[in-house]
Amino acid sequence: MARKTVGVLSLQGGVEEHIAMAQECGWNSVRVKVAGDLKGLNALILPGGESTTMNLLSRQRGLLNALKSAIKKGMPVFGTCAGAILLAKKVGKRKGLIGEMDLAVERNAHGRQAESFETDLEIKGVGKFHCIFIRAPVIREVGKNVEVLAGFGGKPALVRQGRMLAAAFHPELGEDRRLHKFFLGKVAQGF
Ligand code: GLN
Repeated sequence: MARKTVGVLSLQGGVEEHIAMAQECGWNSVRVKVAGDLKGLNALILPGGESTTMNLLSRQRGLLNALKSAIKKGMPVFGTCAGAILLAKKVGKRKGLIGEMDLAVERNAHGRQAESFETDLEIKGVGKFHCIFIRAPVIREVGKNVEVLAGFGGKPALVRQGRMLAAAFHPELGEDRRLHKFFLGKVAQGF
């Protein structure tokens, strides 16, 4: 069977770690910088970084609308940290950017003292996983189509809605590929 290809949004942020991890999972991984790069992909990863910068750069290139329309049409997507913010329907009081996931998130919501921290969480379907939160958003609310796969402090930390997965933390940092395998495995099976 031909190897499947995942595209990693490559405007800014933690791109290379996702590229490497997807390859280690046996996938081709390519950088998505312009709308044309979405052609032929089986899945997408939206990395962590700064959602405001990714918003600005992707708008300038017409990429934000292209991402939105690909995801709306059913392209499987995994958003991590800033990537999860891009996917959320509501960000603070504002409308979200891609906005396809029924989530209300708040950026940088862990406050200064705990801007970054690490903790082990139990992930449904994966097991105990070491989660690194870096100036992470808090997922305040989820719609009824959203399944919570892991939580932290009484709030969802990993959620799934159909073919969309969003993590408040950074599964691409470190050596543990199980969450990437989980997502890419679901894509390969057709969810
Ligand atoms: N604080 C960033 C934002 O609001 C997200 C941080 C991250 O992706 N590690 O976009």
